[in-house]
Amino acid sequence: MDHAKPLPNYLVKRYHGWKATTYSENQVWYRRLATEGQRPRAMVISCCDSRVHVTSIFGADQGEFFIHRNIANLVPPYAPDGDHHGTSAAIEYAVTALKVAHLIVLGHSQCGGVQGCIDMCKGQAPQLEAKESFVGRWMDILKPKYELVSDVEDGAEQARQFERQAVVASLENLMTFPFVSSAVQDGSLSLHGLWTDIGEGGLQCYDPQAKKFVVV
Ligand SMILES: [Zn+2]
Repeated sequence: MDHAKPLPNYLVKRYHGWKATTYSENQVWYRRLATEGQRPRAMVISCCDSRVHVTSIFGADQGEFFIHRNIANLVPPYAPDGDHHGTSAAIEYAVTALKVAHLIVLGHSQCGGVQGCIDMCKGQAPQLEAKESFVGRWMDILKPKYELVSDVEDGAEQARQFERQAVVASLENLMTFPFVSSAVQDGSLSLHGLWTDIGEGGLQCYDPQAKKFVVV
């Protein structure tokens, strides 16, 4: 492998700045994290989107959240087929090995993945429909929910509603994992669905009884 390059200078500078300040001021804490191992209370599944910053929203430090990020914060259905399943592997480890108490799915406004799925469902994204499109095949997970928002005429409102449906789809698919459903049933694990409005800094939580998102 001879294609990897040295780290860009701006990142080298930022790293040394962090080491000299944040790290050196909290060295005892970092060393404790290293020797005692991680015991996060919650797992978070959020989008890869660079604007989504779950540790900022909750003021969380290292060691608090076990975080998995993928396009559109989706959980695929349980499929023990011997294939490569990064999201499912992260969920399995968090629930069975780390025994997290909370599993949070965090959706967000202006999600490009969700918009891509809308475009695909409207027949406006042939590139995503190609078999070779990893994003397109990943977003297939959300397609069955499209009928719930297909009548919404305003495009922005449709996208905001579909982003929330992505969270609901993930919560439903989580329960298809036997180790998740048994932990939920014995009360050791609780699932939570959140959606954050990037521009407004808003946060909404899914209420399964009312079947809607309510402001936190
Ligand atoms: Zn997104």
